[in-house]
Amino acid sequence: MSTAVHSAQELRELVWQWRQDFPLLQRTVYGKPIVYLDNAATTQKPTAVVAALQHYYTECTSNVHRGVYYLSEQATQLYEEARRTVQRFLGAAEAAEIVFVRGTTEAINLVAHCLGRTRIRPGSEILLTHMEHHSNIVPWQLVAEQTGARLRVLPITPDGELMLEAYPELLTERTAVVAVVHVSNSLGTINPVAELIQTAHERGIPVLVDGAQAVAHMPVDVQQLDCDFYAFSGHKIYGPTGIGVLYAKRRWLEEFPPYQGGGDMIRHVTFERTLYNDVPYKFEAGTPNIAGAIGLKAALEYVQQCGLERIAAHEHELLRYATERLQELPGVRLIGTAQRKAAIISFVIEGVHPHDVGTVLDREGIAIRVGHHCTQPVMEFFGVPATSRVSFGLYNTLEEVDRLVEALWKVIRLFGVGGNG
Ligand code: PMP
Repeated sequence: MSTAVHSAQELRELVWQWRQDFPLLQRTVYGKPIVYLDNAATTQKPTAVVAALQHYYTECTSNVHRGVYYLSEQATQLYEEARRTVQRFLGAAEAAEIVFVRGTTEAINLVAHCLGRTRIRPGSEILLTHMEHHSNIVPWQLVAEQTGARLRVLPITPDGELMLEAYPELLTERTAVVAVVHVSNSLGTINPVAELIQTAHERGIPVLVDGAQAVAHMPVDVQQLDCDFYAFSGHKIYGPTGIGVLYAKRRWLEEFPPYQGGGDMIRHVTFERTLYNDVPYKFEAGTPNIAGAIGLKAALEYVQQCGLERIAAHEHELLRYATERLQELPGVRLIGTAQRKAAIISFVIEGVHPHDVGTVLDREGIAIRVGHHCTQPVMEFFGVPATSRVSFGLYNTLEEVDRLVEALWKVIRLFGVGGNG
């Protein structure tokens, strides 16, 4: 199927077809058709993913890399095919640069831990940005405590963009690594990661990109970006939970010590000394999430079949329309108004706690996220304890945006916002 971007009408028709692939979207809550707008937290799963999991469990259950028998060879083949699918999806140079992990969180912890043992020293600096998810802050904080390094933070603007003019001065001879989010989960900002990487590389500094909110919404090519590390989670790209990916350039995986010890990551063990396995197996101790990897392969194939350009074009239209409609509402303030945004809208309604917004919407069958979205420094910057967040996926429709706006009018009337009592 061609992935050429279609007209708005063609895209809308395609979306109605895509919706048929997601059984959960057929269900109702409180007697109303569900409107699922919490895709930044996790996405619904298409039947192709559920079928891939079922196929593994009913036809090929066995462990990988160990058995000499038919089933195990088949499971190993499926698992390694999944690695090659991820490699092609990310445009990595080789499959060995793909490490299967639990998710973005584990990928970042792995890199932080290993850099902590190889490159980060007392006095080193770890450069983050003010819009990082807690999972791209806390692992570095742990490493900083252990090594005597310190965190530096690239500030953001009131629009929720990175303050790029401050970046070059923050890169010093002490900077051991830059860790930056590709798309902010609470602001929707798309960061210019290619430029950030280039500037860091001119000074010989490696860069980790947190791609948790990017890969399901735009094409990503790690060789084009030239990032040293790229992390994402399967469950945010229509795949299973408990599986994720760390892409790392081979030279880093060769240089790094193992992150965890156990079966499968070794070549030979004696009580005196262990010889480690080749990359990427050196980083996959123990029985991996075999079904998860197989399910992730199905999810990536599904997304590619839909076409990432088409998904991006459709979600852009949802973002444009929803932003326009939300701005019509009294008392609504958008948090995050960057020039380049993915389909995430955070907002607050004057005088109404986000939890109340979420609860009223829930009774209307609309699922949104309310809270700090694991980005408390962002909340602090904008002077709010929490926001309401709408995040779109490929199956959302303009009609669902209308239902959201109708439900928000209910909130506004209920709480008497802007004299609408
Ligand atoms: N980074 C970002 C930007 C995220 O949105 C998330 C999930 N909300 C994570 C990291 C962590 O992902 P996971 O919980 O799947 O490890």
